[in-house]
Amino acid sequence: LSERLSGVFDKLTRQGALTAEDVETALREVRVALLEADVSLPVARAFVKSVSAKATGSAVTKSVTPGQQVVKIVHDELIRTLRGEGDPGALKIDNPPAAMLMVGLQGSGKTTTTAKLAKRLTERQGKRVLMASLDTNRPAAMEQLAILGTQIGVDTLPIIKGENAVQIAKRAKQQATFGGYDVYMLDTAGRLHIDEALMAEVQAVRDVAQPRETLLVVDGLTGQDAVNVATEFDGKVGITGVVLTRMDGDGRGGAALSMRAITGKPIRFVGLGEKMDALETFEAERVAGRILGMGDIVALVEKAQETFEAEQAERMMKRFQKGLFNMNDLKGQLDQMLKMGGMQGVMGMMPGMGKMAKQAEAAGFDDKALRRQIALINSMTKKERANPDLLQASRKKRIAAGAGLEVAEVNRLLKMHRQMADTMKKIGKMGKGGMLKQAMQ
Ligand code: GDP
Ligand code: MG
Repeated sequence: LSERLSGVFDKLTRQGALTAEDVETALREVRVALLEADVSLPVARAFVKSVSAKATGSAVTKSVTPGQQVVKIVHDELIRTLRGEGDPGALKIDNPPAAMLMVGLQGSGKTTTTAKLAKRLTERQGKRVLMASLDTNRPAAMEQLAILGTQIGVDTLPIIKGENAVQIAKRAKQQATFGGYDVYMLDTAGRLHIDEALMAEVQAVRDVAQPRETLLVVDGLTGQDAVNVATEFDGKVGITGVVLTRMDGDGRGGAALSMRAITGKPIRFVGLGEKMDALETFEAERVAGRILGMGDIVALVEKAQETFEAEQAERMMKRFQKGLFNMNDLKGQLDQMLKMGGMQGVMGMMPGMGKMAKQAEAAGFDDKALRRQIALINSMTKKERANPDLLQASRKKRIAAGAGLEVAEVNRLLKMHRQMADTMKKIGKMGKGGMLKQAMQ
């Protein structure tokens, strides 16, 4: 809700709009919560700042405190930030053989995740997958992948001693091509810290394999360091997505927010244990609740908002039954429509209004138009809103100017108001208003 719209809610709620002070107080707590969840400091700072601007001036729902309301706003924004575009589980693996490159620090869970993903692709998508370990530093690591392969029934590239990572990548590509595999997965070696040699090796492998997907595997429990890792890998190798492991642990998973904020790349999967089935596609809602550690508050505010909307609907319905429908009522309707998916969404739900919705659409009545109408009503005086009959030429001019629009728009609004007032009267008379109430829920 914009600052302007919140004016209406002031009358309807006990606490009115969020002040800059409310927001600041609540966000101080949110910032601590983010840092405790291991979100990196610069990311936490930037996030809180962006939310602060959005929260100030928004309406407080009856029966929650301003602090709780801010947490809800933060939660919603967190989900928005965490969620990438499209389906996180949809990997680009057409045009066989498609290469998938797995990168990350040592111990982050690359080998485990490679096998988990291979199992998923085999079982759920019927893909023929070949896995290859490029971890020449640790023979045990190559064995590890071979053992996992046997366990899950996925082929691994035979180990040849003395080859370097690039040679293994080339051989994997060949085998995948001639062996008729859909996908070949390259499990690279990690280091304890980012170093030049590691980056050069991964780059060389990338150039050979030209991977469709390069997934950065990050331990979900790492906090501040996650940012460096993401920046380095994305900058030097280029990644297409992130997998967060150890999300089954006690950590609150703040790394997820850091990853999204720093790389802008989608988080694809989360690892939830050592077992081969412990991999799920990323869900922003779940992780957001966990990062904030304030899930109860979010649920409370959602509940309160629902009740508030039901009360508001009840109040409006009573007015319609009495045949009352002024500009305030219209504005209430317009606000509600915007929230509920625009004109089409609302009208479509109201029996007998389908035709009107079609006319409205034909007349170019979209969400932008909705916002213009609301702006016009906002620039009316209290008296004018209560009694639209007052609106003569000079007042129309003033109102149009106030909203930065033409007088013709005011006329259109008045016409719509008259039409809606008539309809509302009819609906009110049709009795009990159960239908209208239903339509507004
Ligand atoms: P790599 O060095 O990056 O290849 O890491 P590994 O795949 O060898 O994993 C290191 C350790 O972390 C192993 O003991 C794995 O079983 C464990 N591990 C990997 N992913 C997860 C996870 O999602 N949850 C838990 N609890 N352990 C994991
Ligand atoms: Mg490994």
